[in-house]
Amino acid sequence: MGRVTSLDDLPLRDDLRGLTPYGAPQAPLPVALNVNENTHPIPDAVASDILDDIAVALRDVNRYPDREFTTLRESFADYLGHGLSADRIWAGNGSNEVLQHIAQAFGGPGRTAFGFAPTYSMYPLITQGTGSTWIAGKREPDYTVTPDDAAAQVAAVEPDIVLLCSPNNPTGTPLGLDVVEAVYEASRGIVVVDEAYQEFAPRDEPSALTLLEGRPRLAISRTMSKAFAFAGARVGYLAADPAFIDALRLVRLPYHLSALTQAAAIAALRNADTMLAMVDEIVEQRDRITATLEALGYAPHESWSNFVLFGGVVDPKATWQALYDRGVLVRDVGIAGHLRVTAGTEAETTAFLDALASIESAS
Ligand code: PMP
Repeated sequence: MGRVTSLDDLPLRDDLRGLTPYGAPQAPLPVALNVNENTHPIPDAVASDILDDIAVALRDVNRYPDREFTTLRESFADYLGHGLSADRIWAGNGSNEVLQHIAQAFGGPGRTAFGFAPTYSMYPLITQGTGSTWIAGKREPDYTVTPDDAAAQVAAVEPDIVLLCSPNNPTGTPLGLDVVEAVYEASRGIVVVDEAYQEFAPRDEPSALTLLEGRPRLAISRTMSKAFAFAGARVGYLAADPAFIDALRLVRLPYHLSALTQAAAIAALRNADTMLAMVDEIVEQRDRITATLEALGYAPHESWSNFVLFGGVVDPKATWQALYDRGVLVRDVGIAGHLRVTAGTEAETTAFLDALASIESAS
């Protein structure tokens, strides 16, 4: 055998040297509550409806798909409401790809992206992947951000892109629309509100979609991975000004959304009511997690998402391992004294809570 080449031997970009790839463990445990998926399978009737459409699309896969994914964009516009039309919609293979398109179009060498840490772990990686520099701002001790402080931090940094995660991952923290407005006023760059978990927020809370009109530098990104139980299909999307969408066309690969993906997503959106029926149950399990964690002596943070970050964990690595040994996978997000758990089905949630109760390591 010849010498095995390592990363160090390759002419890798200098700015990528020493970075670690995204790496949430994919362990085959019975109860996987570590990457904020919707753990409910999609209902049988919807699955067969989607399959019918995929079968039709399959007959044409000798041809490239609709590069403009027009029907899918119309479906997203209908789903989002707020008077949106297809020319204000963009989509990609997961909202990660949509965010990458934004970083490609508006970031790049010499440019910066900014977010309030701790926040979604892919923001720095997507930023760095495009040669842009990531700058982490600060939150209050309870992970909230106030409009004045947010605006001051953004004004001081003058970032090309601001990424506002609402509600925030990994903390679950809600973000007021007054913060979005203040950040938009304070910046000259692009402002993205990542509403990946918006469907889990209280129903009467307005989305940042209500702020789109008259704000051409604002984009609201969403995903089908969470509320729609469609993580494996890889479908994310955003709403913004038509000119903003034109900018993303400059960087996307031609035909980036496969015909099968488009067919599956259109069919799933047609069944939105059934697909979203699980959301209320997940919210119920989330609130049950919060209440039980408190009773066990942990310190859960307020969450408007499908997961709960909780403090008061004496040794997160040991508790993570003890849960793992009991067949439950949660996430150590690297915040001292904390772990994060996704709200699963009632049975999965019970398995997590029972396993945790049997460990007894709250401070
Ligand atoms: N934004 C946030 C805040 C997320 O937590 C995630 C997934 N964990 C994503 C975007 C990306 O999701 P996807 O690429 O599956 O749409």
